[in-house]
Order: sequence, then C-alpha cells, then structure tokens
Amino acid sequence: DDRRGDGDERTAPPSSATAATDPLLRIEDLHKSYGAEEVLRGVSLEIDRGDVEVLVGPSGSGKSTLLQCLNCLTEIDSGHIYLGDTEVTASDTDPNEIRQQIGMVFQDINLFAHLTARKNITLGLRKVRGMSAEAARERADAELDRVGLADQADSYPAQLSGGQKQRVGIARALAMDPEVMLFDEPTSALDPELSNEVLTVMDELVDEGMTMVVVTHEMRFARGAASGITFLADGQIVERGPPERLFENPSHERTAQFFENIS
Ligand code: ADP
Ligand code: MG
Repeated sequence: DDRRGDGDERTAPPSSATAATDPLLRIEDLHKSYGAEEVLRGVSLEIDRGDVEVLVGPSGSGKSTLLQCLNCLTEIDSGHIYLGDTEVTASDTDPNEIRQQIGMVFQDINLFAHLTARKNITLGLRKVRGMSAEAARERADAELDRVGLADQADSYPAQLSGGQKQRVGIARALAMDPEVMLFDEPTSALDPELSNEVLTVMDELVDEGMTMVVVTHEMRFARGAASGITFLADGQIVERGPPERLFENPSHERTAQFFENIS
C-alpha cells in the first residue's frame, strides 16, 4: 500500500469498507459552544477499530458533550467527525443512521417504563430496522442473554435493579449491530455491586473486540481494558496515552493531580 508513500495528498478513500488500519472514528478540531461558553475547544482524536478509549476529566470538562457530538445529539460549531468513510457531521448525514452504527449508553438509564425489557429492545428493531415481530423478539432475547438477563425479558424497568436496567440499555444498543459503543458514566449511579455486573458486561465487549469510547471514573476498568486514556480539561485534550503511562508517568501536572484526586 503506497497510497501515502509518495508525498501526494491522499486520494479519496474507496467507497467500500475502510481499510483495517484506518481509524474507525476520527474527530478533527471540534468546537462546540453553549451560548457564550465554548465547551469543546478544538478536540482532535482518532480511534482505531477494536480500541477502547477511556475519557476522563473533571466535571464540566466536556466529556458528555463530546459523546453527544459523536452521536449527533447536539449541533457542533465547527470541525469534523468521521465514522469510517462517513462524515457524521455532514449536513446530509441522517442522525438515525449514525445512531444505529454508534450505540450509546447513558448514566441515567433511559428505558421506557411502560415497556418490558424485551419490548424496550424490539421497539427500535421494528421501527428503525423494519424487522418482523418474530425476528425482533429473537434478536432481543439473544441480546438479553448476552448481558445475562435471559430470565428478565418480561420484566418492566421498575422490577429491575439499576444494574439490570443498565444492562438492558446495553443490550438495546447492541441489538443495532453498532460499530462503536459509547458509554457515558454507565456505573456512576450504581452501588459497587451493581456496577460490577455492568463492568463485567463491558469487559466481555472488550474481549469481543468492540470499539468503545468510555467516560468513567472506574480506574480498575480503565487499567484492565483501555487501549488509550484521554484526559480532557476545559474542553481541550491535555494529554493522551496508554494507561500505564498516563497513570504512572503523566506529562502534565494537571493530569497527575486529577488521578491523585480520584484514586
Ligand atoms: P462533563 O460531562 O465533562 O461533566 P459536560 O459535557 O456535561 O461535561 O459539560 C460541559 C459544559 O457544558 C459544562 O459547563 C456544562 O454546564 C455545559 N453544558 C452541557 N450541556 C449543556 C446544555 N445542554 N446547555 C447549556 N450548557 C450545557
Ligand atoms: Mg458528563
């Protein structure tokens, strides 16, 4: 492959699947404001297929906003986001297409209270994917089994623990066959025991090679699973590196202080 070898600008990528070596997610100079407050101030980040990027930073540093930009949940001011060859931030990109390919799990577990666990999953499969009732049901049950909830398909959210609800949320996102999974503090509303069952499911996804961007303060997960840690402060990436380096030998005082305070 000599596409980049001769000093030419890279030609347009082929329309077929991206080469395995290209980053799956590419964020270029992203800027985002709320009113007068610039919340993301030039964020650039590349994430390869199969990578697990853990995003950390003080409260208000822009972590949730960054994930929301990736999932087309908010408008950006400038910059670009690419998922493979698709520009997520292009004006003619359908947000619903992106949300199938980039699944998201939030801190607040946003299941429909009036629907069973299974129905929470089949809804999207029927509406967005146009699956038959039977196929959607089979898929939902398979995903519930994958997160250890085969026996809770007929339970309503109020009958489930916080950890179980969060696992239904993960199953619902996985049912769409996403290329990337985003997690925004998926365990911070949970007791340690319930956190662990969610982290176990996330560890399994890591083992399966899922590409993930995870905002979390669970440094045990980060140490075990992250291929990279990105430390964000005031809407900018302060530094990024493999977990061992960022934990043991950060380049910036600010990063060192952050890790000291949360451990
Ligand atoms: P983090 O997830 O790192 O705690 P956020 O991305 O939630 O940070 O927030 C970054 C900044 O943007 C904060 O100052 C927050 O108050 C502000 N912000 C977030 N969402 C909104 C919104 N919908 N409207 C106005 N300001 C917001
Ligand atoms: Mg947040």
